[in-house]
Amino acid sequence: MTGFSATVLTLYPEMFPGPLGAALAGKALEKGIWGLETVQIRDFATDRHRSVDDTPAGGGPGMVLRADVVGRALDSIGSDDRPRLLMSPRGRPLTQGFVRDLAAGPGLVALCGRFEGVDERVIEGRELIEVSVGDYVLSGGEVAAMILLDAVVRLLDGVMGQRESGCEESFETGLLEYPHYTRPQVWEERRIPEVLTSGDHKAIARWRHAKSEAITRDRRPDLWRAWEAAHATGGTRK
Ligand code: SAH
Repeated sequence: MTGFSATVLTLYPEMFPGPLGAALAGKALEKGIWGLETVQIRDFATDRHRSVDDTPAGGGPGMVLRADVVGRALDSIGSDDRPRLLMSPRGRPLTQGFVRDLAAGPGLVALCGRFEGVDERVIEGRELIEVSVGDYVLSGGEVAAMILLDAVVRLLDGVMGQRESGCEESFETGLLEYPHYTRPQVWEERRIPEVLTSGDHKAIARWRHAKSEAITRDRRPDLWRAWEAAHATGGTRK
């Protein structure tokens, strides 16, 4: 197995690669920098109706993905050292740090939930790591898995044009990114801030840093507090 290898377990394999087949991620897929395999969960149903879900024990609305079916689907992959993730709104929040850790590894297995979710016993029994892409509820794990893979794939070696173009972005420094501009100089009477065309690289860096701080303080008090705390001690932080 070469490169970063992703296996997605889903009831809708036809959704993949979808957006991951285009642009940066799609080119990297073509080049073999990463590989994507889907597993149809329904192939592991055993009854006549090929059912994958059943009503929740204890009652309530919706349906639950069965532990036996999902367990067999997971076991069909065989064992390797890739982390086994379950896309889930209850999960560990997906952050850039987590994305970086995943990109440094051999790949990942992502199980996409549907309906009300997955029988808890298979989460425990197969030690799945629940991962959330945000505090909102999607109709299924597929789009969440795409978000996760998109974020991971762009960090793989050879995917982004400029090596540096990952370092100064939002979250990488603990601050949100400064604003960008490009030609034309004037658009609808709005000028590119003068400092950016001054050629004074120190002044430009200072301006960008000040903007990053101001935007973070203004829009994301949570990130700002964390950044301040990390810098207040006088300690160095990368
Ligand atoms: N009843 C669940 C929601 C189920 S949504 C609850 O209240 O927590 C159906 C599936 O969509 C989930 O099993 C999960 O795989 C996926 N999903 C929904 N929202 C998600 C999110 N924010 N992050 C990751 N996966 C999500």
